[in-house]
Amino acid sequence: MTQAIPVIFISALGDVLDKVKAFSVGGVDFITKPFQVEEVLARIDSHLTIRQLQQQLQQQNQQLQQEIDDRRRAEETFEKAFLASPSPIAITDLTTHQFIEVNPSFLKMSGYSRSEIVAQSAAQLRCWLNQEQYEAAMLTQAARYNQELEFRTKANTLRTVLLSVEHIRLNGQACALNIFNDITERKRLENEFISMVSHELRTPMHSLVGALDLLSSDRLGQLSEQGHKILDIATANAERLIRLVNDILDLERMKSGAITMQQQRCPLSPLLLQAAEAMQAMADAAQVALSVSPCSLLLDTDPDRLLQMLTNLLSNAIKFSHPGGAVRLTAERVEVAGRLSPPYLLIQVADQGRGIPADKLNSIFERFQQVDASDSREKGGTGLGLAICRNIVQQHGGQIWVESTLGQGSKFSVALPIAAQPEAITEQSDEQNYSAS
Ligand code: ADP
Repeated sequence: MTQAIPVIFISALGDVLDKVKAFSVGGVDFITKPFQVEEVLARIDSHLTIRQLQQQLQQQNQQLQQEIDDRRRAEETFEKAFLASPSPIAITDLTTHQFIEVNPSFLKMSGYSRSEIVAQSAAQLRCWLNQEQYEAAMLTQAARYNQELEFRTKANTLRTVLLSVEHIRLNGQACALNIFNDITERKRLENEFISMVSHELRTPMHSLVGALDLLSSDRLGQLSEQGHKILDIATANAERLIRLVNDILDLERMKSGAITMQQQRCPLSPLLLQAAEAMQAMADAAQVALSVSPCSLLLDTDPDRLLQMLTNLLSNAIKFSHPGGAVRLTAERVEVAGRLSPPYLLIQVADQGRGIPADKLNSIFERFQQVDASDSREKGGTGLGLAICRNIVQQHGGQIWVESTLGQGSKFSVALPIAAQPEAITEQSDEQNYSAS
């Protein structure tokens, strides 16, 4: 306890050896007699200050050491968790998307060796089926959980993953901690189950609708007005179920590659007009003005699939519009870089309807994702239309996205590449203008 007390020797012995001895036994100062009281007091003062500073320094050192130990322990725990985690984890640069570190589970899932992946970017390795969707997942918020994405392995197979991203700083660098949950097998079983159930449902549903039709034709006996009303509700619901089953099977067949694109060179305008005409009755019933400004181009496309996509987008736009609202279908050739490199075709469906909340702008393109749980019941939807649209657009090598303001309307945009075959699209001078009545 007393050993830290600074001791000042005051002695009449003044030669060097005496002083050395005093210091070697622990003295901090040596004053030779005769001494001045002021000098002694001043020296005591300065030694007390030195002692205080020493104590402060020691305390700070201890604190720092404690922090270093805590940090080292945290790093060791993180490293152990990182290395031993059954979930694939990758740390990437937030802006360049270069891989900085990956764990063994990630290497196992991706099929790459560490040296093949570290310092490469996700885009260079073509890791994501939709790189842009991945980049959006990385940048929109400081943290994002369970975004469903398709990851491409070294062997060029696709794995469905749920990606959770946290922004972190590593040695001063802004990084993303990507934690993957590989749900490929779960998805496969789920799809198999859905597709089996759908197949089993299809035949009885068709016979049900046939029977309802027969009943409502009054050939089996006259029905009351009330009876017809009930039959109409039953038919509408049965038809919705058939639509659902058909959509599920369509999507599954597209995803599994059983439906391939039958591309041919088609003029775009008739396709746009055909889509608008097909939706005219629905627009009239909803008191929505439907207009289309076609763009006279030739396009290499699968016309049936393009029509399916256009009618899906138009039917949504009409469904979610208010009476008196307007829905507009436009198409143009874009010559400046945007979602795709130019030139590309931009098709847009804009409405003035209820709009879509910002946090749903990406998720509605996933299967069964609806803004409101009552949408399928009240609007007759299946929650599969946009997933089908996205699939069709992706099979054309394009992009689909939506911009929206709540309460004011939504604009769905589809960008289709045309750069690969520039001769596939030729401008024609006289543009037609069609406005469905
Ligand atoms: P659904 O069969 O329910 O229309 P979709 O996949 O086509 O399925 O759309 C998913 C959901 O996205 C819809 O249920 C709706 O909530 C929202 N949505 C799609 N288009 C629009 C739109 N034009 N305006 C507002 N909401 C929309």
